[in-house]
Amino acid sequence: MRASQYLITTLKEAPAEAELISHRLMIRAGLIKRLGSGLYTWMPVGLKVLRKVEAVVRDEMAKTAKALELLMPAVQPAELWQESGRWEFYGKELLRLKDRHERDFVIGPTHEEVVTDVVRRDIKSYRQLPVNLYQIQTKFRDEIRPRFGVMRAREFVMKDGYSFHTDFASLEKTYWDYYNAYCNVFTRLGLKFRPVAADTGSIGGTGSHEFQVLADSGEDAIVWCPTSDFAANIELAEAVSPAHARPAAAESMTKVHTPGVKTIAQLADFLKIPVEKTVKAVVVDGVDGKPVLLMVRGDHSLNEIKAEKLPQVKSPLAFSTPESIVEAFGAAPGSLGPVNFPGTVIMDRTVDRMGDFVIGANEDDMHFTGANIGRDIPEPLVADIRNVVEGDQSPDGKGVLEICRGIEVGHIFQLRTKYSEAMQCTYLDADGQSVPMEMGCYGIGISRVVAACIEQNNDDKGIIFPAAMAPFTLAIVPVAADKNPQVAETADSLYQSLLAAGVDVLLDDRAERPGVKFADMELLGIPFRVTVGGKGLEKGIVEFAIRATGEVKELPVGEALALIQ
Ligand code: ATP
Ligand code: MG
Ligand code: MG
Ligand code: MG
Repeated sequence: MRASQYLITTLKEAPAEAELISHRLMIRAGLIKRLGSGLYTWMPVGLKVLRKVEAVVRDEMAKTAKALELLMPAVQPAELWQESGRWEFYGKELLRLKDRHERDFVIGPTHEEVVTDVVRRDIKSYRQLPVNLYQIQTKFRDEIRPRFGVMRAREFVMKDGYSFHTDFASLEKTYWDYYNAYCNVFTRLGLKFRPVAADTGSIGGTGSHEFQVLADSGEDAIVWCPTSDFAANIELAEAVSPAHARPAAAESMTKVHTPGVKTIAQLADFLKIPVEKTVKAVVVDGVDGKPVLLMVRGDHSLNEIKAEKLPQVKSPLAFSTPESIVEAFGAAPGSLGPVNFPGTVIMDRTVDRMGDFVIGANEDDMHFTGANIGRDIPEPLVADIRNVVEGDQSPDGKGVLEICRGIEVGHIFQLRTKYSEAMQCTYLDADGQSVPMEMGCYGIGISRVVAACIEQNNDDKGIIFPAAMAPFTLAIVPVAADKNPQVAETADSLYQSLLAAGVDVLLDDRAERPGVKFADMELLGIPFRVTVGGKGLEKGIVEFAIRATGEVKELPVGEALALIQ
């Protein structure tokens, strides 16, 4: 690419509202332009970066996750969301609109409903399963606080994958294929990241991991053990941390009499709300002398949960082993029966993302309604919890816990049959029985990855892109070419040879001062720069600079080409 025919729109200053270094640098380097709150244009040079991330993701989707690409519509009929129950409970993040016939639609924040509809139409037999599909597509979420540029935008690019299976074993296998694919993607992109056990949030289901890029500015807190494999999102850790086991300041929560209600499903039915809006929190006293909080959410009732599944519902942070959970309930593994609920209701901070109507059940026939974090449970309590968890023994007994911050760039879920049951996505098994499919879903925030990468890789001169993500691999900067035809010729022939060798090269042939060009190439984070100047050429050399290390070498013209190959 010749810079004179390209669009490089760098800025000296970033707008005052850009707080994060990645946001400031993306604006200054001209990768993105703001259109409105949480809405950004990817400029040509930024789009090149985004496409490089997509290329690595596509490669790993094919090779490691073994998924097939498709493309689903961004606009989705409301009926599908009504079928899954999320029309009710997704809340204001879901952008709803009407067409000219007054029919309701949404702009997809995610595609579980659409992909489930696709699969239920075509897949009828166990012989056609598993099915594993993904897309790279624009999502819209009407975030309450869009900020940090493309890091938390309203419109953003996501890779979302979905898999469908006859049984849990098949789902688990694909889940771990995705886990490995995600590790490969983030390693290839040169990011420092950590996979962590995660909360299943508003999507629901059981097993889940997030992929967190480590950065002090990250919005998520991770509790992890440096001497073992233990790592969890603190949202999850809080839910089971003994420190959380305090009575809530339940001023505006109401205790309602619910005769005969013993399970979550009955409770939802009694209150005429979708089951996803319910949450059951129980404090069990007496495991290792510490109070233990167990949270069960969504469509699980404690009675239905078998002992071996409990560690998947919540990471056993406060329980040292699955056996200790079984012990706490006085039940044999696999046979956990109806349980009495002693203790106090505690709300999990993450619950408020499910809507503002949450319920905790602590006694037979009595339930709290209308709890809300920030109103019923003051925010400082959350900070307290973080302090208490740091330095605690890791639940695997292999060391002490530490806390660091991260940016969530990927998230994988075992959804199980949540959507397939609600939307009748079934197959016929070998005996001709109709069975709901097991399902998984897998997301990567493609556009957020770019911001997260810059958050980790920058200096006072600008961005330092890892080669896999850089808009150009190498920049050639001719100095005063207008006054020296030999400079222009050498730069041009070097450019042609590099292009022919398949190198993504930018020839900065703009009529700018060398200082301006150097500053732009550094701001843009281009990994290598070759400077061609009259004085050097007299000695037959060019200057070769490495952005990441700041190293500068003088090389014979012919060797410059060999070096980057
Ligand atoms: P967050 O906790 O940051 O709000 P999420 O848990 O709501 O993210 P998921 O539903 O897990 O997001 O979506 C998959 C991925 O999409 C996330 O891991 C993240 O990388 C990306 N993502 C989600 N929301 C945004 C956003 N508003 N802007 C940019 N990327 C996003
Ligand atoms: Mg979110
Ligand atoms: Mg999240
Ligand atoms: Mg997530």
